[in-house]
Amino acid sequence: MAGSIVLFGPPGAGKGTQATRIVELTGKPQVSTGDMLRAAVSAGTELGIEAKGYMDSGHLVPDQVIIGLIEERLMEPDATNGVLFDGFPRTVPQAEALASITQVSAVISIEVPDGDIVDRIVGRRMDPDTGDIYNISFKPPPPEIEHRLIQRKDDTEETVRNRLETYHEQTEPLGSWYGSRGLLIPVDGCGTIAEVGDAVTSAVINL
Ligand code: ADP
Repeated sequence: MAGSIVLFGPPGAGKGTQATRIVELTGKPQVSTGDMLRAAVSAGTELGIEAKGYMDSGHLVPDQVIIGLIEERLMEPDATNGVLFDGFPRTVPQAEALASITQVSAVISIEVPDGDIVDRIVGRRMDPDTGDIYNISFKPPPPEIEHRLIQRKDDTEETVRNRLETYHEQTEPLGSWYGSRGLLIPVDGCGTIAEVGDAVTSAVINL
């Protein structure tokens, strides 16, 4: 399939977890603005220094910064046949900018109510060696790697509330923006990782 796919949904919906499956199915590279920003923060680049305050408090990094980052990423040779966006676009201006640079073929929206999100995010852990994501309640890590797992700085209860508020105010309206363009495919994100994965798979193979 030509064009890019957008994975859409609230923080903690499981976008990163399900992205792996879509990458396997489509061969499109995953482009996660959250991962790109975290890499810039760790490397201490100018971008990282600017982005850090917004990220730690649960606010969005300014559109201009994000759009510049995406324009650069889409010039890489592996992006020629489209990519899988994870965590982008997050505002209507970002979606408008994206529409002017590349074709979006489908937007898979993983739907999870707010009540489930806090537990998912506060229990989330990452393996820095492999990038694998675990959850202490829903996807426990093997005991032998437990000691090296890290928790994201913005995965605290207080920051999650801000992230959810930001999501409802600035990102959720994008759902109807894409819906009115006939691109939105809703998927129930409340089942197990495997169940959601199956729903995502059937959405992707039917594209
Ligand atoms: P999650 O989806 O779990 O909230 P991400 O890893 O996608 O987390 O993003 C972490 C943080 O990075 C966001 O809270 C925000 O500050 C920033 N960020 C990521 N993507 C964008 C974007 N497209 N626009 C603005 N800010 C972004």
